[in-house]
Amino acid sequence: RSTGKSADKTTTSSSSHQRMAKSSHSPQSDFGRLVWAPDEKDGFVLARVVDIATNQLTCDREDGKGQVTASYDAVFAADEDLKKTVEDNCALMYLNEGTLLHNCKARYRKRKIYTYVANILISINPYEDITGLYSKEAIKSYRGKSLGQMEPHVYAIADKAYREMRRYKESQSIIVSGESGAGKTESQKAILRYLCENWGGQTTTIQQRLLETNPILEAFGNAKTLRNNNSSRFGKFVEIHMGNDGLVAGGFVSHYLLEKSRLCRQTKGERNYHIFYQLIAGAPDSLYKKLMLMSPNKFNYLKHGTSQFFAHPTAKPTVASERLSDATRKSGFARDPIVDDQADFQRLAKALAGSGFTAEQQNFIWSTVAGILHLGNITFEEQVNDTKGGCKVDPASDLSVSAAATLLGLDTGNLQLCLCTRIMQATKGGVKGTLIRVPLKVGEAAAARDALAKAIYSRLFDWIVAGVNKSIPFENSAYYIGVLDIAGFEFFAVNSFEQFCINYCNEKLQYFFNERILKQEQELYDKEGLNVPKIEYADNQDCIELFESPNGLLKLLDEEARLPKPTSQHYTTSVFEHNKDHFRCALLRSLFESTEPKKMTGSKLQSTSVAAKFNSQLTVLLEKLKITGTHFVRCVKPNAEMKALCFDGASILSQLQCAGMASVLKLMQKGYPSRTSFADLYATYKKLLPADLARLDPRLFCKAFKN
Ligand code: ADP
Ligand code: MG
Repeated sequence: RSTGKSADKTTTSSSSHQRMAKSSHSPQSDFGRLVWAPDEKDGFVLARVVDIATNQLTCDREDGKGQVTASYDAVFAADEDLKKTVEDNCALMYLNEGTLLHNCKARYRKRKIYTYVANILISINPYEDITGLYSKEAIKSYRGKSLGQMEPHVYAIADKAYREMRRYKESQSIIVSGESGAGKTESQKAILRYLCENWGGQTTTIQQRLLETNPILEAFGNAKTLRNNNSSRFGKFVEIHMGNDGLVAGGFVSHYLLEKSRLCRQTKGERNYHIFYQLIAGAPDSLYKKLMLMSPNKFNYLKHGTSQFFAHPTAKPTVASERLSDATRKSGFARDPIVDDQADFQRLAKALAGSGFTAEQQNFIWSTVAGILHLGNITFEEQVNDTKGGCKVDPASDLSVSAAATLLGLDTGNLQLCLCTRIMQATKGGVKGTLIRVPLKVGEAAAARDALAKAIYSRLFDWIVAGVNKSIPFENSAYYIGVLDIAGFEFFAVNSFEQFCINYCNEKLQYFFNERILKQEQELYDKEGLNVPKIEYADNQDCIELFESPNGLLKLLDEEARLPKPTSQHYTTSVFEHNKDHFRCALLRSLFESTEPKKMTGSKLQSTSVAAKFNSQLTVLLEKLKITGTHFVRCVKPNAEMKALCFDGASILSQLQCAGMASVLKLMQKGYPSRTSFADLYATYKKLLPADLARLDPRLFCKAFKN
């Protein structure tokens, strides 16, 4: 048994002994053996082996619904005692995907949403408040406890990170991953609360402000989607800084890839960012008038998705809520206790004030947000008798132009001109000539309007995050605990550049996970001479190279964008030319083929900078992760309906597999997942041994003990 740096778990020797004798999945030796056989709906179904052929097994389903025939590696040994659940999957008799899924399911039924696989925490979204799970008492009770001493909990991971920060005098990071709606952001908030509550120290303002960052960032960066009513549409790395005294000293938020397309268009049933609805629902009357607000279904940027307001059933009838009922009568009202725009607006205003945003700055924010809405209402029409095919602002939207200009602090005439033309610099023989204005066509002007709205909003978001950071300075920081909350893999019917970036980021994080957990664990075994056989895991290095190599997707995309007339067809061709061996994946191919050429031109200027900027942000992030101690929380979404106690086995299994948990189990099955510290062993045995041995320091003591 070795003591690795990540050691935190102590398991009794009897359970580790059992593990030595078990086999992963070799059910062929046992005719009639109980196994987990693959099932399309539940992931696995309990069955008994009835026929053993060269390549496959046939099993009778225990539920009497026929037989399953599957290859050997798809069938896993099951425990005869099905009622038994364990807090750490590594304590099971058989470590495999079948027993993992079953254990998680049995625990989830009992409202135990957390389960460990060694040091990794699996968290399954309960979609309901579990009494006492996050109470003040719970926060206190996890303090200073090793992993495994208490029920699995995200608090235990936070505490482990804290203790390791203190012990190794090294910053730590907690990587929270999972698909949309799996509970990443809620976990991140719980970790933040845990650290603030236990080590908030004297300066309650910093602590308060750290906690206020969430309502602020969520108002501007979260939206209702089909998958999650409060979906974060940006990634973040939140650092909680600690002083040498181990108390909270400040914080810092880095943000990544705010989804911009949502600003101008939303999928049916989804919404724009919360702030728009919050402002309309919650603005006091005078502000509402000043910003020339209207109900959401009157704004182009809000009416394409669902323009629904969300109001709490208990909302008091104020002027704003009368407006609200008026608006909602027209747009179809859906009550949702999770999103309450009116109350959220009050909370936001309070949080902004608490984080040092002055009244003037708050007004600037409201005006900008409203200005964007009016900007979206500007429409264009063809110039009559214009040989160049130019356009002008549709007179019907004159009011929108003046409202947008006023609220954004622009000159109305200038705004009109800028929307309908673009500036070009003529170049002759390499010499730059004069600037000229080129008229835009109707479609181009609309694209320019949307690009402007997106640029303003994303800069507003940057500015707000910067303001939040200013309110939580960390000059007196010695170390930090960073929590990464970033969108998991996304794959939709229509995928855009945003999915491309998110998925690229996830490939990088998965690579990091493989390196940290799988590779380093094996290296440790090698170093300790433990003779653990090599575990093969799905390496995604070639996928990452496809993005990053000198002729990779990112580089070629930037090159394409620099061409005078970039098209998606040309990009696709050059990608295939340079990477033909890489393209075995038909899905990826289709992703590029379906890109509209129009879109490419629209985002021409942006795509260069967005891809390059994101790539360098990602490099900085990974550098940070590499030099910190890391802890992993794998969040799982139990079902698509966002319902409590509903366990969709097949989907959960696939999420666990994507998170690399199957490889971890394989490794743990053959390896030594539980480790104890020298100090603990020393404390346990020193009383029983001769005094001259007990005088040694814990490490030497254990060495001598072993000999
Ligand atoms: P993600 O950030 O992974 O997209 P969220 O953290 O926003 O997902 O969670 C989505 C929703 O699921 C939350 O708004 C909340 O309603 C519910 N939820 C998530 N985690 C928990 C939890 N631990 N307890 C209760 N409800 C939760
Ligand atoms: Mg989130």
